[in-house]
Amino acid sequence: MSHSIMIMCEQSGGRILPVTSELISCANLIAAHCHSRITAVLPGLNTDAYSIPGADLLIINSPGLAEYTCEGWEMAAMLAAEQIMPDIIIIAHTSTGYDYAPRVAALTGSGCITSVCGIEFTGDNLTYRRGGFHGKLDLQYRAGEQALVITVLPGAFPSYDGQTEAGMTSIINADIQLACTSNVQFSIPDQANTELEHAEVIISAGKGIGKAENLQMIRAMASCFNRSAIAGSRVACDNGWIEYNAQVGLTGQKVSPQLYVACGISGSAQHIAGMNGSKTVVSINRDPEAAIFRYSDICIVEELESFIPEFIREAEKHRAE
Ligand SMILES: Cc1cc2nc3c(=O)[nH]c(=O)nc-3n(C[C@H](O)[C@H](O)[C@H](O)COP(=O)(O)OP(=O)(O)OC[C@H]3O[C@@H](n4cnc5c(N)ncnc54)[C@H](O)[C@@H]3O)c2cc1C
Repeated sequence: MSHSIMIMCEQSGGRILPVTSELISCANLIAAHCHSRITAVLPGLNTDAYSIPGADLLIINSPGLAEYTCEGWEMAAMLAAEQIMPDIIIIAHTSTGYDYAPRVAALTGSGCITSVCGIEFTGDNLTYRRGGFHGKLDLQYRAGEQALVITVLPGAFPSYDGQTEAGMTSIINADIQLACTSNVQFSIPDQANTELEHAEVIISAGKGIGKAENLQMIRAMASCFNRSAIAGSRVACDNGWIEYNAQVGLTGQKVSPQLYVACGISGSAQHIAGMNGSKTVVSINRDPEAAIFRYSDICIVEELESFIPEFIREAEKHRAE
């Protein structure tokens, strides 16, 4: 079985981002079994890249690709796919990747498997692993006969070790015209949060806290400890309960405190990626099957609203003694 594998590079301002190297590792894993040629596609305008280790590089250069748009990236991917004729297209499962990947799959008539976190081989058969039901299930998918688009979770594969030299580089100067999209403004929020970096204890709120008012309970719990800080899951940030610069996870901060207390957090792979360096993990969750318990030293199956106030009362009593 021989394949042609196409990777879509993840870039920012013309610079190839590190997650691309993980996609190359993933592609090399497949290539080792299927004797494939790997081509990395870089959409953009006057990018800095000239080559990439472990793959050929195809640059799609166009004023219409100066900034990310779903429409532009989809057109760039289609242009590249016409030339490369890929059997598999690999895209990072990032906020841009999962935006345009399903459209590329639809336009190329391909199957689409998202959030891939592992690849396994049985003979010539390739299976793609992804989590399901908030990480409680480990799902395995096998592709059909048609081409396939996969999105790969950042952090799921190691960075490519660069043992193979960079391949050939070619450029297509394209005139990509956006028919339905125009970018009004890009703003990048301030990500610096040294508080989390230096905290010995982090009390982290998830969707399970239920409402903004319950953040007070989380703060009160944090105040029971010295050198503590509060943080949250992405859902807690999306709900506006916690600032984005205190989001823990793949797309947030990576933290490694002495104690991490996960309050109403299910334990998705993306959250675990940010806190699995913590020395001790305590989780409070009403669901005894919650995935977070697999990563916890102490598992408390309880309602937050009953456990935390009780904990605070006990801590205050202890302090007064
Ligand atoms: C590309 C990408 C990047 C991502 N990056 C991140 C990231 O950096 N960080 C991140 O956190 N997520 C990230 N996510 C989102 C991630 O997949 C999950 O959706 C998110 O982590 C879930 O947040 P949660 O655990 O707070 O909510 P849920 O998964 O909804 O879990 C809520 C939990 O609270 C429990 N619960 C509910 N009520 C109570 C109660 N009263 N008492 C006790 N327990 C209760 C429930 O049993 C459940 O386990 C990313 C996703 C993608 C696709």
